[in-house]
Amino acid sequence: MSSPALEILHRVFGHTAFRGEQAQIVQHVIDGGDALVLMPTGGGKSLCYQIPSLVREGCGLVVSPLIALMQDQVEALRQLGVRAAYLNSTLSADDAARIERELLAGELDLLYVAPERLLTARCLNLIDRAKIALFAIDEAHCVSQWGHDFRPEYRELTILHERWPDIPRIALTATADAPTQREIAERLNLEDAQRFVSSFDRPNLRYRVVHKDNGNRQLLDFLASHRGDSGIVYAFSRRRVETVAEQLVAAGIHALAYHAGMPAESRAANQRRFLQEDGVVMVATIAFGMGIDKPDVRFVAHVDLPKSIEGYYQETGRAGRDGEPADAWLCYGLGDVVSLRQLIQQGEAGEERKRVELRKLDSLLGYCESTECRRKGLLGWFGEPHPGECGNCDNCLEPPQSWDGTTAARKALSCVYRTGQRFGAGHVIDVLRGQTTEKVSRFGHEDISTFGIGADLDARQWSSVFRQLVAGGLLEADIERHGALRLTADAGPVLRGERSLRFRSETAKPARGAGARKS
Ligand code: ADP
Ligand code: ZN
Repeated sequence: MSSPALEILHRVFGHTAFRGEQAQIVQHVIDGGDALVLMPTGGGKSLCYQIPSLVREGCGLVVSPLIALMQDQVEALRQLGVRAAYLNSTLSADDAARIERELLAGELDLLYVAPERLLTARCLNLIDRAKIALFAIDEAHCVSQWGHDFRPEYRELTILHERWPDIPRIALTATADAPTQREIAERLNLEDAQRFVSSFDRPNLRYRVVHKDNGNRQLLDFLASHRGDSGIVYAFSRRRVETVAEQLVAAGIHALAYHAGMPAESRAANQRRFLQEDGVVMVATIAFGMGIDKPDVRFVAHVDLPKSIEGYYQETGRAGRDGEPADAWLCYGLGDVVSLRQLIQQGEAGEERKRVELRKLDSLLGYCESTECRRKGLLGWFGEPHPGECGNCDNCLEPPQSWDGTTAARKALSCVYRTGQRFGAGHVIDVLRGQTTEKVSRFGHEDISTFGIGADLDARQWSSVFRQLVAGGLLEADIERHGALRLTADAGPVLRGERSLRFRSETAKPARGAGARKS
């Protein structure tokens, strides 16, 4: 390790030692090498380009997509005495001109630039005339059109390499599933860059997934084990955020709300209270969290299904930054799957994009219903092998029972078919269990062959069967028809007796789980 880097780490940043792979990355870039850095949020990516920028001659140029984060970083650096600045659309022409002069005079250590700004002829010319220490491309996954943060301008950043081949480049991201990694390397011309892949494991987080039957009750039970702790409760929509926050307040919990529909001032005020006060429970949409660096968040609870495994990982990653035990708790039901599919299908995105999002949702459902170690499943998604049996997730702590669900699945699928693939799970379950409800009579469903063939399971067990059939892709919810269930091509082999199925048993109350039943 070169001593200038260590010296700067101590003197400027006040840290005693490098963390994880920081030392190797910093050295590699100081030596002029290109790097692709995959490190989880909170891992310490910023130092990986900040220190080389200070050690190498010239100014480090950082491409960053988020104006707010850019300003925070620059502010923090200035307080440490680093000569940092940013160029983005919020600056007046005069201020921008001043910063350009400072850059040319060699008076800047770090300059943050928004990608669209960087690509202007004016800025490219400026770089030609300045001494540049390195290019850092932050949030490099923005180059991937499969990700949530696709920024077309990122694709044009190859110009950095074409125009200034001798200046080292370092691309950084916390989103690192294998396809995204490949795309970053390809699109940014970083195939030959050295890759630094940190572990994404967060051993202090305890992952748990529970099935929703009475979501509010379940959340309160969960929160009872976290009295006085700071935590985040993620909900799916603005309306849900408000309802859940009200319910928590009514239950005597110090809960605040946060979503993009609130006035900016109350949002900022709530965020400040969450950061500064102890024991605040923030009920929020995913609008909350970017750049939130609070070390002692003791839990992240999802009361609705997140949109993808990456999203889930990022959101849960906000818990336990201090390394102390923290909970990642997810409660979901079939209704969530229907609402999310609806949200995706009715969204503005193009067909291709929608297909990607639906696939991501399916992967997440697979994760939720899986019986293997949660940590193994999560890390596997990021291409990181894990032996499993982590001892700190629900599946490791209380290994789930499974049962032969072939017969139940066939009954469920035929009943969906016989009732015309026009109804949601609730009604089909009534028909299976032989309940003569008003709706059953109205549609004459007492008279079909599947009426009452499922009286051996209770409603809760059937709802678990349906959830797993949807999660397993044998049934899909038809959004045009309010979540009516419909068979997919994969249902065929099960109906024809060519494929058997095992289901995860419900462990929680009522005592007689479906797994205890002989089928
Ligand atoms: P990322 O960009 O990967 O999410 P940051 O660069 O924002 O992470 O760093 C996260 C936190 O860790 C910051 O508060 C930072 O000061 C701290 N940090 C980073 N590197 C070190 C280190 N070597 N020693 C101590 N703290 C560090
Ligand atoms: Zn485990």
